[in-house]
Formats: sequence, structure tokens, C-alpha cells
Amino acid sequence: MRYSQLFPKTLREAPKSAITANHKFLVRAGFVDQLMAGSWTLLPMGWRVVGKINQIIREEMNNIGGQEMLMPLLHPKEIWNQTGRWEAADEVMYKLKDTRGKEYALSFTHEEIVMDLVKKFVHSYKDLPLAVYHFSTKFRNELRAQGGVLRGREFLMKDLYSLHVSEEDLMGYYEKVKQAYIKVFRRIGFDIYVTEASGGVFTDKHTHEFQVVADAGEDTIYIKPGTHEGFNKEVFEGREEDYEVKRSIEVGNIFPLGVAKYAEKMGVYFTDKDGSKKPVWFGSYGIGSTRVMGTAVEVRHDDRGIIWPKSIAPYDVHLVNLRAGDQEGVRVYEGLQKAGVEVLYDETDRSAGEKLADADLIGIPVRLVVSEKTGDKVEWKERDKDRTELLSVEEAIKRVVQ
Ligand code: ATP
Ligand code: MG
Repeated sequence: MRYSQLFPKTLREAPKSAITANHKFLVRAGFVDQLMAGSWTLLPMGWRVVGKINQIIREEMNNIGGQEMLMPLLHPKEIWNQTGRWEAADEVMYKLKDTRGKEYALSFTHEEIVMDLVKKFVHSYKDLPLAVYHFSTKFRNELRAQGGVLRGREFLMKDLYSLHVSEEDLMGYYEKVKQAYIKVFRRIGFDIYVTEASGGVFTDKHTHEFQVVADAGEDTIYIKPGTHEGFNKEVFEGREEDYEVKRSIEVGNIFPLGVAKYAEKMGVYFTDKDGSKKPVWFGSYGIGSTRVMGTAVEVRHDDRGIIWPKSIAPYDVHLVNLRAGDQEGVRVYEGLQKAGVEVLYDETDRSAGEKLADADLIGIPVRLVVSEKTGDKVEWKERDKDRTELLSVEEAIKRVVQ
């Protein structure tokens, strides 16, 4: 991608309302744009980052047998009445009426929709276990949409749902999902903490949250010293032991839902081996991919801009041409592209200062500079290091693809 064609260009100033690093830098660097409170456009570079996050999640969900699909966002009231959540989740749901007076909710989650599918298609123990997931928009009437993309009223989530013949089978799978989530967050470069939490409007059982320590977080977690495990605030209350208190961002949450709140209320039963009818055991598992992008910026930035981890960076290389004329730059650009490297190529005639400042702001892991001084070589610099090196184009490619 040539910088001259990239939509949009970087901004000099962060919005005045921006307090958190992700809000300031993602807006200034042109990754996201705010339509209104809690509502964001993922601009082309932001969409690339979220695409990479989603791909990591997708690979790990497929690894544990998840099947990807896509469910609707506009839900009829009747389906939410079956579990009583039309009333119980009133605060968080956006509800609307069409011109004929029929009532709907915009999806804030999909348990009821999955259960409706299971009722139609799962009849026997032979149809179980089953795990399905999708990536989709969630709408939530958040009281305070704040912290940039960390808390939206409309945001992207991967939600996985699993169905089982028994509690034992559910809990075995729940543990698998926990490990898959840890893998996802490690691949994204997070130092992840797993905390026990309550289930909110989802379940009366305890759940597990995946937390990243950051000042911008709205959560308080209690960590057993020397471990990456602990409790969130609601669950910790009343405990006497010594724990370390940290501010954190919840990036994922898994729920062992059981049978009482969904299968029994919606009448979702299967026929077991012995011919008896039993309710289907249910679990649900969420990761907020847009919040993950914001969290990555919160934990990886300096005063000049973002420092993307390699695994989710919008491009592998930011190539900056400081020479008059494009010729040498194009040679390097095309060489990199041929080798399968994703490149943002700044070929504009803006000042060197402006171009290098943009490279720091945008935060692509490797910066390559072509200048009058570099001859037929390129200057290599990593975003999180100060050292520069002169390399041949071939050497540079080799380092990027390794
Ligand atoms: P929070 O406590 O922050 O309001 P939650 O516990 O209500 O979040 P869940 O229902 O557990 O959220 O949703 C699963 C995941 O979706 C969360 O772990 C988070 O990554 C993401 N998420 C939830 N709410 C938002 C939001 N308003 N904006 C962006 N991401 C969100
Ligand atoms: Mg949660």
C-alpha cells in the first residue's frame, strides 16, 4: 500500500476528549473514527488489525473443533421471552419496534439464537458434542461508553457456544476453551491473567475472565502472588488471604452455563443412549476483538505512538523513501511484495521528519528507510529499539519473513 493512497491520512492532533492511549493513537494514526459515543468505524488499517486478531482466534477455535457460521443481529422479542431475558437484560438491550408494531432486540449476545438452532437440529446424543462460533457485532446500551474502543455500544466479538450430553463433558470442553484462549492471547503478545468471576445476566455459576493489566482498565483483579490466577472484585469480597490488587481490562470471558437457564427454559432436550430425554448442557465463550485491539495499544505504546506486536500489526514493514524520486524505493517495495511481505510504502514528498514521525505513530514493527546515504542497501530499524543497521534488501526480507 502506497501511503499516498492510504485512507485516511494521519492527524496532527488527538481529539480533545481522548484520555486513553488507544483513543489518542488509534484516531491520530488513522485506524478508527468515532461516529458518536461508543460507535466506531474501523478504517482500513484498523480493519487489518482486527482481521489479524480474528484470524488468530479463528485458528484456535478451529483447533478445538469449533465450526464457524454467522447468526442474525435482529432478534424477535419472543425468543428472548423464552428465557426471561427480555426483562432480565433490559438495561443492556437495544429494543425497537417496526412500523407494524412488532418488537425486536439488537443482539447483545446469542445464547437464545444458538439454543433455537439446537432445538431444530440436535435430537440425539449422536448429534453431540457440538461447538459453533461466529464473529459479529454486539449492541449494548452501555451507561458510559469510554476508553476509546475499549467500551463501545456497538463492537465486534467472537462468541463460541458448546453443547454437551453431560456436565462432565461440558466442563472438559470448558477447560479446553480456557487453554485455547490462553494461546490466543499469548499469540497476541498479552501477559494474560485468568480470574474467577460471577456470571452476570448469563449464569448463576462462576465464570472465568481473561484480564490484561493496564491503567486504562475498568476492572479490579486480585492476583495470588507469583501466579497468573486470581479473582475479580465481586468474587474476591470477604476473602482474607494476601492478594495483589491490579487494574485490568477484561478481554475474554467464558461461561459454563449448565442446563437450568437455557435448555430447560427453552425446552431443548436430546435422547440419550438409554432412550431417556435430557436437557442439553450449554457453555458460551466470548472475546471482544475490537477491545483486544485497544488493549494492545494500551500495553504497547510510547509517547510517539503505537508499538504493534508482529502478530497483529497492520503491515509487516513500513518502507520510507527519503530520496528524491521513487526509483530505488520502488525496487525495494516490489522486492518485499514479491517475497510476500505486507508493506506500507511512504513514497510521498513530505519532509523526512514528518514521514519518520508517522512511522513511529502508526507503529509497524519494522521500519526500512531508503535514502541518499543507504546506496543499494536499506536502513533497518525496529519500532521498539533505537538501533539502526544497513542491510541488503535480501537480508532485510529474510529477517522479516523468518
Ligand atoms: P464489561 O464487564 O467490560 O462490561 P462484560 O463482562 O459485560 O464486559 P461479556 O459479556 O463477558 O462482557 O463479553 C465478552 C467480551 O466482549 C468481553 O470480555 C470483552 O472482551 C468484550 N466486550 C464486552 N463489552 C464490550 C464493550 N462494551 N465494548 C467492547 N468490547 C466489549
Ligand atoms: Mg464479561
